[in-house]
Amino acid sequence: MWLSLPANTDFSIHNLPFGVFHTGDNRPRAGIAIGDHIVDLVAAAESGLFGKARFFKKIFLQPTLNEFIGLGKPVTNRIRRKVQDWLRLPEAPANAARLLTDRKSAVMLMPLQIPNYTDFYSSIEHATNVGSMFRPDNPLLPNWRWLPVGYHGRASSIVASGTPIRRPKGQIVPKGQETPVFAASQQLDFELEMAFVIGKNSTLGEPIPIDRADEYIFGLMLFNDWSARDIQRWEYVPLGPFLGKNFGSTVSPWIVPLEALKPFRVKGPQQKPAPLEYLQQTGKQQYDIALEVSLTPGPKGSETVISRSNTKYLYWSMAQQLAHHTVNGCNVQIGDLMASGTISGPTPGSYGSLLELSWGGKNPLQLAGGIQRTFLEDGDTLTLRAAAEKDGVRIGFGEVSGQITA
Ligand code: CA
Repeated sequence: MWLSLPANTDFSIHNLPFGVFHTGDNRPRAGIAIGDHIVDLVAAAESGLFGKARFFKKIFLQPTLNEFIGLGKPVTNRIRRKVQDWLRLPEAPANAARLLTDRKSAVMLMPLQIPNYTDFYSSIEHATNVGSMFRPDNPLLPNWRWLPVGYHGRASSIVASGTPIRRPKGQIVPKGQETPVFAASQQLDFELEMAFVIGKNSTLGEPIPIDRADEYIFGLMLFNDWSARDIQRWEYVPLGPFLGKNFGSTVSPWIVPLEALKPFRVKGPQQKPAPLEYLQQTGKQQYDIALEVSLTPGPKGSETVISRSNTKYLYWSMAQQLAHHTVNGCNVQIGDLMASGTISGPTPGSYGSLLELSWGGKNPLQLAGGIQRTFLEDGDTLTLRAAAEKDGVRIGFGEVSGQITA
């Protein structure tokens, strides 16, 4: 290809994730990331790259990708292939300068209008760690190995990477007391998660069979489900997370299409007992995507990597989550986001939350410059990164970053 890319770029020709951006003019447009550039899909449509120029120009000038995603995989995959072919031309085409935008000059936007957000709890290591802090003798509840536990979250407060996160206030029971005070959370945490985007509406009353789940999954986004542990601890009984979670979640601005991740499918952990029939999945059900978390103590500290994990550790797969979510007839909508739950690995260095990394605040983390942390402080920046890599092919997810404000 004529565009020279640095080795190991997150956005290779094999990746080509979709996003929405503007270049200071507040005119959102769809784009595809390649190396340090974005292929401006509005300009590409205008130049006739996809045919039906007026139709596609209108689609790509939307503030979100929902309408585009709704065209279905035959169309979205064709658009991606056309861009791939264009990039693979032996010499720079005449329209190259017009179609490419430097990523440095682009402001990335929230690429979806999210109708519904669901959060699962699919990492057995995370569920066991958190469970053992509260119930040392019985960390995993009896239902955990039978179904992907989840709850319905809040879609309105999901923001794109770079958006500051304001420390939430709420009801907190001080240590040693029995009644709550109203105060700012002192146990602000992150959760390292991977989310998938629904690409196709399903019909109310009709479950999605597990072997057809991939038809409904458009792509993946790296996800941080910010959590206020002290608020969560008091409120979560008996109905689960509420204000301890819904003050904000941050996603990567890029959606990596499911098709780009095919080479990275791997077998997941063996499931015992065997799940019920509607959750039984053959073949490779997980993805080998390396995950990294880093913390920059604010406002001028230096970055320390605090965790390295992998989506392959997840016990329940995306297909199982979706099959379970819809088995009662619940329908899904284009743009719905479903997150995995915190992805912890088997070793302490691979835990996906500060709650686990500091073991409930008992073991402070040592950061560069002699700084310690148990939970997040004002001015801290938390950054997630993810990439699948194999045989010289790298599929990156971009950064998910957020700074805590008072
Ligand atoms: Ca979560």
